Amino acid sequence: MTEETLFSKIINGEIPADIVYEDEYCIAIKDIAPKAPVHLLVIPRKIIPRIIDAEADDQALLGHLMLAAGKVAEQAGIADAFRLIVNNGAGAGQTVFHLHIHILGGKGFSESSLGF
Ligand code: AMP
Repeated sequence: MTEETLFSKIINGEIPADIVYEDEYCIAIKDIAPKAPVHLLVIPRKIIPRIIDAEADDQALLGHLMLAAGKVAEQAGIADAFRLIVNNGAGAGQTVFHLHIHILGGKGFSESSLGF
């Protein structure tokens, strides 16, 4: 069995989180340490540690996550300006090894907010 992660514990209800969206394949939560006025995370229920660990069988799931990210951004009122980020590996700043898409946006968020 795949080892539990912080996010699988949130998905299972073992750890509380501010859940803003959920469906059969994923959930979206508010990031606990927001780096933009709106900072949400789209997380698949399936534990895939990093994007590099995704396999051909995950193709539909990965597409689903992107569509969900769009819906969640729209629901958060930032459909016109947001950024999606996936960190892969500790060297890229990944701290939770359960795939997730960061959604960043909101009033005052701009290109310069992330320094690149
Ligand atoms: P990453 O660095 O790409 O692995 O992103 C992990 C994100 O999870 C960070 O932005 C953290 O602030 C966020 N995070 C960590 N613990 C929690 C939590 N309990 N609830 C919500 N977000 C969290």
